[in-house]
Amino acid sequence: MKLSRSDVVRLDREHLWHPYTPADTWEATDPIVVVRAEGSYLFDANGSRFLDGNSSWWVAALGHGHPRLLSAMQAQAKTLAHCALAGITHEPAVLLAQDLLRTAPQGLSRVFYTDDGSTAIDLAVKMSVQSFKNRGMPHKTRFVALDGAFHGDTVGATSLGGVDVFRTPYAGVLFDCVRADFPAGEGGYARAFETISDIVKQGKDSIAAVVVESIVQGSAGMRFYDPAYLRELRTLTKDAGVLLIVDEVFSGYGRTGTMWACEHAGITPDIMCIGKAMSALVPMGAALTTEAVFNTFRGTKDRALWYGHTFCGNPIGAALAREVLAIYDDERIVEQVLRKEKIIAKAFARIAEIRGVQSTRHIGMIGAADLASLTGGNGYLGGLGWRVYDEARRRGAYLRPLGDTIYVCPPLNIEDTDLDTLLGIVEESLRATLR
Ligand SMILES: *Cc1c(COP(=O)(O)O)cnc(C)c1O
Repeated sequence: MKLSRSDVVRLDREHLWHPYTPADTWEATDPIVVVRAEGSYLFDANGSRFLDGNSSWWVAALGHGHPRLLSAMQAQAKTLAHCALAGITHEPAVLLAQDLLRTAPQGLSRVFYTDDGSTAIDLAVKMSVQSFKNRGMPHKTRFVALDGAFHGDTVGATSLGGVDVFRTPYAGVLFDCVRADFPAGEGGYARAFETISDIVKQGKDSIAAVVVESIVQGSAGMRFYDPAYLRELRTLTKDAGVLLIVDEVFSGYGRTGTMWACEHAGITPDIMCIGKAMSALVPMGAALTTEAVFNTFRGTKDRALWYGHTFCGNPIGAALAREVLAIYDDERIVEQVLRKEKIIAKAFARIAEIRGVQSTRHIGMIGAADLASLTGGNGYLGGLGWRVYDEARRRGAYLRPLGDTIYVCPPLNIEDTDLDTLLGIVEESLRATLR
């Protein structure tokens, strides 16, 4: 590193603006200054290291510095690092599409590449609306999304979002979205399903699509719902002639114990959005859809999807995304999750016993604990989670909370000993905070 640690911090305070970070809080903390990462660890310039408790914002499902990913990136960079995908095609893009469709739910047959998760969602929005316009149904322009939903931060994706702090400031520029209840709570999902059922049946002439995160709402605080709800939603939307868009940007790539979370429900959506773990090291996203949707864009030129991002299908991203899928096969990554989720389950059962922990839950490589708020916590703006963050940091783990929800979402290939250490740190940090 050319700069000293303190120079990095000084320049940061002078010039940087961080995502999801209140400036005053930031300036009052000594940040982690990461210089390198390896496996499940982030290394600070001061020599300390941190277990990456959230896979660096849910991306590093294969940990950091996987040698096969590094060589795939290098090899692709040497031959073809970037070119457009309009009027041009290339091997990494077509082979990746083939590989993705081989693992994807049966019936998906077309891949459209984007830059990241948010743009995959925006694409799905436009794809749905124009697909109906092309079918002579121009009034089908509305969307239904769930309470607590998070689908990204572009204006389109924010419109679908149901976390208040993320949308309130922009309310004036967001498109209208019908909000349906999150399918959980007393009595299971039955009542929530009844509500969305009424919405969809009554609004089917104006609704283009229902959009849901698959099985788990990440940003809302790692909330899970019954796969049976997704199964019923599939039937409901199909019968009503409404598209079902499933957001697998977070829940895909084995995070919940199956390659795609919608496999828990055994369904095929009309559009499946992916990103995050997809290409491991560089931004990339995609929407996978059916031949039926694709075919509605045939015909005169104005019927085409006049849409695309500069870096869509980038060869380096595509080569990486292919190598990711190959590593999933060769290292049996999803099978590893089935074994490790038992370890996470056991740890969170212990954590549930800590006084001040309100509830815990787990699925696949996700474990979460809600803290009974002692400090007048307020969802994302609550302070208790950040006290656990500080305790965990002192003990060697990076554990960014979701408000007063503490969670782990480590690399899927984390070493067992590192997983034990991480879970031990979570437990100790919670005990220290709630003492
Ligand atoms: C992160 C996320 C997105 C947005 O992805 P970006 O790559 O940040 O644009 C969309 N949906 C879900 C469920 C996510 O977790």
